[in-house]
Amino acid sequence: MHTVDLVVVGAGAAGMMCAATAGQYGQQVVLIDHAQKLAEKIRISGGGRCNFTNRDVSAENFISGNPHFCKAALAAYSAQDFIDLVNSHGIAWHEKHRGQLFCDGSSDQIIQMLKSTCDQAHVQWRMPCEVTEILKTPNGFTLNTTEGPIKTRRVVIATGGTAVPQVGATDYGLRLAKLFGLRIVDPRPALVPLKFDPEVWQPFVALAGVSVVARVSVADRPQATPFVEDILFTHRGLSGPGVLQISSYWQPGQSLSFDLMPGVPVAQTLIDLKAGARQQLSSALAAFWPKRLAENWLAESGRRKLAEWSDKGLKELAAKIQDWRAVPTGTEGFKKAEVMRGGVDTSELNQRSMEARRVPGLHFIGEVVDVTGWLGGYNFQWAWSSGVACGRYIGESGTTSP
Ligand SMILES: Cc1cc2nc3c(=O)[nH]c(=O)nc-3n(C[C@H](O)[C@H](O)[C@H](O)COP(=O)(O)OP(=O)(O)OC[C@H]3O[C@@H](n4cnc5c(N)ncnc54)[C@H](O)[C@@H]3O)c2cc1C
Repeated sequence: MHTVDLVVVGAGAAGMMCAATAGQYGQQVVLIDHAQKLAEKIRISGGGRCNFTNRDVSAENFISGNPHFCKAALAAYSAQDFIDLVNSHGIAWHEKHRGQLFCDGSSDQIIQMLKSTCDQAHVQWRMPCEVTEILKTPNGFTLNTTEGPIKTRRVVIATGGTAVPQVGATDYGLRLAKLFGLRIVDPRPALVPLKFDPEVWQPFVALAGVSVVARVSVADRPQATPFVEDILFTHRGLSGPGVLQISSYWQPGQSLSFDLMPGVPVAQTLIDLKAGARQQLSSALAAFWPKRLAENWLAESGRRKLAEWSDKGLKELAAKIQDWRAVPTGTEGFKKAEVMRGGVDTSELNQRSMEARRVPGLHFIGEVVDVTGWLGGYNFQWAWSSGVACGRYIGESGTTSP
């Protein structure tokens, strides 16, 4: 049986990028995916327009057991490098808020770009194809697949995280890492809506669909990153960008703190407004909030005129608005999560080659690694950067065995 240079398992964002890069160095690359349709996560990303990167990417935008691990790959292949690739394929894009870059058209353009880059680099496709076994051999690996066995010098695992199993996500990469004796950081849903106790949440159910800008943080952890973004009330809890962001940091049992009027000196504003005001308190709040939120938040007391409130009462109300505490009972789980937090422990991997220190020739890239990006194009940038760093390393190491 002929031995190829590289088998990449998982033809998603990181896998295609890695396969194409290694192929450009003249490596003989086989790219395997079990799915019927190519790169479903890219297709559904960014509401169908793929938020493919962010103008402003640094290690601070990622969560990992080792916050420095991602730096080498991000430096080796930057957001600008990916923007240049997108431009060279004539794909039109636009910037949304906070440096987030989206396709003007459909995310399918990114998939076709990656596929044609692989084709130009003579990557051989095996799809749909299942890998039933990966065996270490003296000179590399033998993969048993539903399309027959393949011998290879190196294997890259790019099977992604476990979020959204509906589109073919699996825990394959985690299981394989364990099989080879590598440590795993517990996988958990991230960028995910949060749920609350149904009884506690009852007063807020009527707010489902209302969204408001908030400063969201994990309570009593001032060192943790707060996010100022929209939050969205749902029937079971909270969602929206601000809540998705903080969900990646939240641990079960912790309380979240919401400043529901960030940047507004609420107490003083209400006290100032009170002088001679005949309006109801709820109308005063509605100048800052959606009317439904103002009315619901205050319930009966909102119908009282602002002038009837004591300064002390307004200060107490302001404190509740600017430090609203709520303890989620859990998340909406992997079915609704955008990404998986955790994965292959970065201490097991070389940060330049993504190669397992203890298993030469076996590499892990993309979301299966314990590097999780914020919402806003960072997860794709990690997939591109880790894929290219790994592909280059393999390309540059030529045909020498690991
Ligand atoms: C709804 C949604 C929207 C998102 N939007 C964005 C966004 O706009 N911007 C952003 O940066 N990130 C976004 N993400 C996150 C982003 O999609 C992922 O972080 C990224 O795709 C990870 O790349 P990857 O290559 O590691 O994994 P994936 O892209 O998930 O690719 C993994 C591949 O491995 C294959 N595979 C899995 N198991 C096996 C197996 N056993 N055998 C063979 N093949 C296998 C899968 O079929 C898949 O093709 C979004 C995620 C979701 C769920």
